[in-house]
Amino acid sequence: MNSVLKSLPKVELHRHLVGSIRLQTILDLAQEYKFPLPVSTLGELKPRVTISPNSGKNLGFILREMAKFTQLCFPSRAAISRIAFEMIEDAFLDGLIYLEVRFSPVYMTAQGNLSQVDVIEAVLEGLNQANRYFPVQCGVIVGINREMGKKVAKESADLALAYAGKGGVVGFDLAGDEAAAPPREFENIFIPLRADGRLGITIHAGEGAGARSVEDAINYLGAQRIGHGVRAVEDPDVLDLIQRQNITLETCPTSNVITGAVQSFATHPLRFFLEKGISATINSDDPTWFNTTLTNEYSNAIDKMNISLQDLAKAAQNAALGSFLPLEERLALADKIAPMYTTA
Ligand SMILES: [Zn+2]
Repeated sequence: MNSVLKSLPKVELHRHLVGSIRLQTILDLAQEYKFPLPVSTLGELKPRVTISPNSGKNLGFILREMAKFTQLCFPSRAAISRIAFEMIEDAFLDGLIYLEVRFSPVYMTAQGNLSQVDVIEAVLEGLNQANRYFPVQCGVIVGINREMGKKVAKESADLALAYAGKGGVVGFDLAGDEAAAPPREFENIFIPLRADGRLGITIHAGEGAGARSVEDAINYLGAQRIGHGVRAVEDPDVLDLIQRQNITLETCPTSNVITGAVQSFATHPLRFFLEKGISATINSDDPTWFNTTLTNEYSNAIDKMNISLQDLAKAAQNAALGSFLPLEERLALADKIAPMYTTA
């Protein structure tokens, strides 16, 4: 089954660049740039930067340990371009034909060598190079984190707007601890983005906080898509709002189980969303961190979440139609993948 799922043309809307770095690349970069990595082999590195549903580790571990490790991996533009290039190669090998990758330029400038512009340019350059070899179209989502200062977050938003329509920048994202920093706090940053209208808006919500956070992300920040959104299931009114406004939910099953946003694969609301006609999608979030791939998430959907091939096809269509591409391109993408799912 896995080889069939791998061969299906896939679209992914929710993947972080920082959670996609190859383990070998972390070791290579540590050697090349001499950054202090307390491990030297793949075997030692793997438990430090990956996490599985039954490992007993939680979101705190991810943020404290893993994000700290991976933050070392952006010492230069060349390193960032390499990471972006390899992510596209991996996506190609996994059967993706369209991917929207997100990253926070502020997080990636923490070592002090690069500006936010350097980071964006380096990612775009890596993606461009990859496109010469691998036919995976890629949209870029510039992100901010709830934990960073509002001033640098605003700078990221201004930059994202300056890049809108150039080199594939298609969207803007808010990530981080939603329970500690509700969507409303960021309203001012999103006003110019909403007024401009060229960038799609996606907000991490309904993961570490409940349905209200999803509702606020839509009403106060103009979210067209919600990162995760699984806890929207807690409030029928919020589900109605999602349906009325045709909001796309970017669910990430393995991630959702590991972070505790859902109890288990069996109780994940993806099937409920799809049966209800909500535009829900399947994503990997952070393939390296969560030791997964999009194919593996498709396989989880069928094997562990009782999702039919028909509903899987629906999720794939939702991803194509929910992407931040212009409407004609979204429709073309949906048309391109549909026949492959009916014959699978
Ligand atoms: Zn995410």
